[in-house]
Amino acid sequence: MRCPYCSNLEDRVVDSRESREGDVIRRRRECAACERRFTSYEKIELPTFQVVKRDERREAYDRGKLMRGLQIACRKRPVPQAQLERIADSIESVMADAGEREISSQALGTMVMDRLRGLDPVAYVRFASVYRRFEDVDAFVKELHRLK
Ligand SMILES: [Zn+2]
Repeated sequence: MRCPYCSNLEDRVVDSRESREGDVIRRRRECAACERRFTSYEKIELPTFQVVKRDERREAYDRGKLMRGLQIACRKRPVPQAQLERIADSIESVMADAGEREISSQALGTMVMDRLRGLDPVAYVRFASVYRRFEDVDAFVKELHRLK
């Protein structure tokens, strides 16, 4: 890696440490030329694709937003959080395996509904009735808040 002090490209790793959650590796490096030390981080690349809305606007897929929509649909329903995480995992792996960079918000909603249907009928109906009309997680979350 390029030394931030002298731009030399040779260095050696003096220490390597994994974060407590195991998602980041931090390396202390020492420049072979000026011998100053600096830190680099290695991270897993998160699944990334664009969601194409009905009006053709594109927005980066946001797992947090999807999880909020699922949690609201499953409010007071006996669905464990881990099952909802699995829905998001499965959608992300479908996208990764297909090498897809884009998905319509409609197709994304359909994938969610297919998975929710077998899990909890009430959550499915809640999600489906609102999502079908809005096809947008933001609008969906707002509508569900209004319905409460
Ligand atoms: Zn240097």
